[in-house]
Amino acid sequence: MQQEAVRTLNRDIMTCIRCRLAMTRINTVPGEGPADSGLFFIGEAPGRNEDLSGRPFVGRAGAVLEDLLSSIGLERSEVFITSIIKCRPPENRIPRKDEIAACAGYLDRQIDLCSPEIIIPMGRLASEQVFLRFNIPHEPIGRIHGKLFHAVTARGQLVIIPVYHPAAMTHNPLLKGAVFEDFRIIGTMLKKRQKGSKNALGLDDQSTME
Ligand code: URA
Repeated sequence: MQQEAVRTLNRDIMTCIRCRLAMTRINTVPGEGPADSGLFFIGEAPGRNEDLSGRPFVGRAGAVLEDLLSSIGLERSEVFITSIIKCRPPENRIPRKDEIAACAGYLDRQIDLCSPEIIIPMGRLASEQVFLRFNIPHEPIGRIHGKLFHAVTARGQLVIIPVYHPAAMTHNPLLKGAVFEDFRIIGTMLKKRQKGSKNALGLDDQSTME
């Protein structure tokens, strides 16, 4: 049911002409994964391999993401993965504000349909977009990565854990430790959730930041 609703949304995305990227893309890249996973990863924008295949994170950043997930005992097939924009910007340039805004409705709808327990925006642009959506004041990614933020939605409460983008450590090897550490924090949350701790996600705490 949830998965079917996501598939229907994907069909809308596939025919989208809301911004200029519709003219240069080969495929849209709506996202993939189990809608009921509880874990919702958001990247920045599809690259060349993603544009060719229509699947998120299948290039170099995808290999890094798979390593990071595996470091906390997860496989990519267990989590939902998408990006803030669903079409590749030419030459992999940074997505423009109006492109992000044109795509925001799709990301919002995906979040509503999947109703995740934990949202993991990867990188500055994704975390800015998620914080905007949940009305949380944004700070530089260097200051907020690996921290827990709580948000309340019509469907319940959720936790947002901004992390560095997996590609960050391929551009700057000095960030490798920080990127793995961000994922270790996600892993710690998951262990608490598995143990069935009542307050596994810290959801009784009304504060927005830990
Ligand atoms: N980087 C992203 O942010 N998203 C993708 O789909 C691929 C690489």
